[in-house]
Amino acid sequence: RSCLTKNNLPPSHKLSELFSFSGAVCIPIFLPLTVLFLIGLSRSPEASVLQWPPSLPSYNQLLDPLAPVLLLGWIALHILLYHLPLGKVSEGLVLRDGTRLKYPINGFHGLCVSAALLILLMWLGAPLGYLFELLLPLAACAIAVSFLLSIYLYIRSFWAPSHALALGGNTGNPLYDFFIGRELNPRIGNFDLKYFCELRPGLIGWVVINFGMLMKEVELRGSPSLAMILVNSFQLLYVADALWNEEAVLTTMDIVHDGFGFMLVFGDLAWVPFTYGLQAAFLVVHPQTVTWLKAVFILLLNGMGYYIFRKSNSQKNQFRRDPTHPSVAGLETIATATGKRLLVSGWWGFVRHPNYLGDLLMALAWSLPCGFSHLLPFFYVIYFTVLLVHREARDERQCKAKYGLAWDAYCHRVPYRIFPYIY
Ligand code: NDP
Repeated sequence: RSCLTKNNLPPSHKLSELFSFSGAVCIPIFLPLTVLFLIGLSRSPEASVLQWPPSLPSYNQLLDPLAPVLLLGWIALHILLYHLPLGKVSEGLVLRDGTRLKYPINGFHGLCVSAALLILLMWLGAPLGYLFELLLPLAACAIAVSFLLSIYLYIRSFWAPSHALALGGNTGNPLYDFFIGRELNPRIGNFDLKYFCELRPGLIGWVVINFGMLMKEVELRGSPSLAMILVNSFQLLYVADALWNEEAVLTTMDIVHDGFGFMLVFGDLAWVPFTYGLQAAFLVVHPQTVTWLKAVFILLLNGMGYYIFRKSNSQKNQFRRDPTHPSVAGLETIATATGKRLLVSGWWGFVRHPNYLGDLLMALAWSLPCGFSHLLPFFYVIYFTVLLVHREARDERQCKAKYGLAWDAYCHRVPYRIFPYIY
């Protein structure tokens, strides 16, 4: 995220945006069950999302003594990598007490070290395909770790000074505050728990799990399928991009406004790694034939999505950081009463959220290699469309409040929100 104001992934995120107060009570039960349900479904022959009543995995399917060892080892590895003096150190935005926190920008190094370790394990003959069997136990452990970490965060927040608390997470309702998160930037020494969880163990874990699914395919069928290679490469590109631009996460709502509670912890550690990559798990049990022609189409779609996503995010970031930079200086803008200007040409003159459009095109490209026989591989693109449409509406309200008439003028000039001529 270096050349972005916001990253592509503030994964967790985003669950909060879909639900409010009453949800805070139900979600900590409902979402973990959804994760287990979806994984169980991806490996069942029918893989029918609409089956009723929905069946959950049995207790025994969730147990494997290797899972907690692997999961805790993985988290420990990334804590270690976080502390290595690699990459630069950046400052976050100014906090309410006037200070700024320092963050190591070395998530991409973490991804490279993880890749090197995977290659070493392969070379040593480690059965990486066993991750397929371990998926449910690993998810169960990630959910358990999410609960334990959230309880720890909730308790320790009572010792935090009031300026260190998030504005939205202190309603006095223990369940809601536990869910939304009380403390803004919980740290142990220099180790920032929220920043660490945002992009590292879960996001890198997601692509490692994908790779495990690919190796399972190799075990079963001798070589990885084209569909599996496409899904793995697309999602690796997305994760690598997020980590390459890691610095931009420092200006996201997750870091700047949201407390660190169950919603973010669970989103980062369980929801993203175990639901965003369902396509790869699905392909292990439901092999698909992708013709070269279809593969080229899907590649172009993902390439186009990535291009729009990256270019539009970078353009806005560049404009916000330095509006006189040659790459943005020639763009047409309108003035606002706040002193900030709004872009009305370039990507931000095409639709009002070109970055969401690019993200959604990529999400669709991740599902297409899985064919049209099942709804399950489309879970991510459906969930993500709902999420971004809701997020866009919320951002729109905030911009209208911030920029007033100038925002109306922008909407008049650029009438479509995300999809040109549609929405
Ligand atoms: P955006 O990058 O879309 O930023 C919205 C802000 O940009 C507005 O509040 C406004 O802030 C500024 N802005 C809006 N219009 C203009 C304009 N015309 N000119 C200049 N500035 C403008 O925020 P998000 O955090 O929602 O999205 C960032 C990325 O993260 C996206 O690519 C999105 O797809 C991705 N994402 C991914 C998720 C995932 O789970 N994979 C979840 C959520 C997001 P201001 O004027 O104050 O600068």
